[in-house]
Amino acid sequence: MVKEFDSVRAMIETLKPSYPVYCLRPELINRAAQRFLESFPGRVLYAVKCNPHPEVLRALHRAGIRHFDTASLPEIAQVRESYPDAACYFMHPVKGRAVIGTAAKVYEIDTYVIDHPRELDKILAETGGAEGLTIYVRLTTPPVDGAFYHLAAKFGAGVDEAAAMLRDAASRGCRVGLAFHVGSQCLVPGAYATALGIVGEVLEKARVDIVGLDVGGGFPAEYLGTNMPPFEDYIAEIEEGLKKLKLRRDCVIMCEPGRALVAPAISVVTQVQLRKDNQLYINDGIYGSLSETVDAGLKLPARAHRLNGELGGSPKDFILNGPTCDSLDVLPSTFSLPGDIDEGDWIEIDRVGAYSNALATRFNGFTPETLVVVHDQPVGGVR
Ligand SMILES: *Cc1c(COP(=O)(O)O)cnc(C)c1O
Repeated sequence: MVKEFDSVRAMIETLKPSYPVYCLRPELINRAAQRFLESFPGRVLYAVKCNPHPEVLRALHRAGIRHFDTASLPEIAQVRESYPDAACYFMHPVKGRAVIGTAAKVYEIDTYVIDHPRELDKILAETGGAEGLTIYVRLTTPPVDGAFYHLAAKFGAGVDEAAAMLRDAASRGCRVGLAFHVGSQCLVPGAYATALGIVGEVLEKARVDIVGLDVGGGFPAEYLGTNMPPFEDYIAEIEEGLKKLKLRRDCVIMCEPGRALVAPAISVVTQVQLRKDNQLYINDGIYGSLSETVDAGLKLPARAHRLNGELGGSPKDFILNGPTCDSLDVLPSTFSLPGDIDEGDWIEIDRVGAYSNALATRFNGFTPETLVVVHDQPVGGVR
């Protein structure tokens, strides 16, 4: 059973952890999930890769999330074995043959994504035919300036290819749909309308009815200095874009948020192992939970905790060094912390619910493994 504390402070008093500790606030997952479930005009899938921790899935399931975007057998197994009432969708455009067969036969997965005609051949061969299958064709979309990652750079078909694949899959007896992903941490709501415009072009060319339309993930989370457009703007762009498409009334609209559902809900409590002037050596870093501070330039809010006595001194900018011996293992932005912070104090780094533990390595023997549930207010201060 996962340990539960009233607050991060209470956790530190009890565990005095010399190892990093993830602090999950399920109330924040619930809040984010309710926002999607109440405003998104369709089905809300959680993208499991973003944070597959069992407690995160449990909080999402409790919040009412029943659909999961999965991309591998271990993800499917985890969801289906924990939550028999949950539906998994196999949203990876490139799958091993045996993996498709197992997904279909063992887990009864009936929805798959493709972005190349040969992937459809594989799916039809390994699942034993088109009956009951829904095939989503993944579209490429233009790069968005305000998105950290251009996910369409690796996957996705152009308009003509996508239209041909839709027709091919439909003529072979599959139900068909379209999917796209505008890129993670997308700060431009209009990117969804643009992508829906491309969906319109494909439908115009293909002239087949789709049973599903998946607008992907990419909804942002707020970090320091993010300047995030309101969530309602994203929903409004999506609704506008949908209105222009002549979809069947029963066409299922879906989204697959990862980051926006979980990022604010976890902080990681690290301990200062040594101070050298304005440099602090802590026990988590870019090979652990914090790789997105480099890859996506995330700036994360933080606060310090001390057990015996008060932290003091006027705030100072500190460089945080990770625990591995690699000289690259330094966080790129400084953190403003109390001037007298020292060895043995803790630094709680917030907003690490997304792509943190999911990306952590075991490099040099350091890997964050502990997660607790807490119920206090988060570090906040991002606006
Ligand atoms: C990673 C991914 C997501 C989740 O993206 P976020 O930016 O975390 O919302 C959704 N769909 C697909 C296909 C993905 O690869």
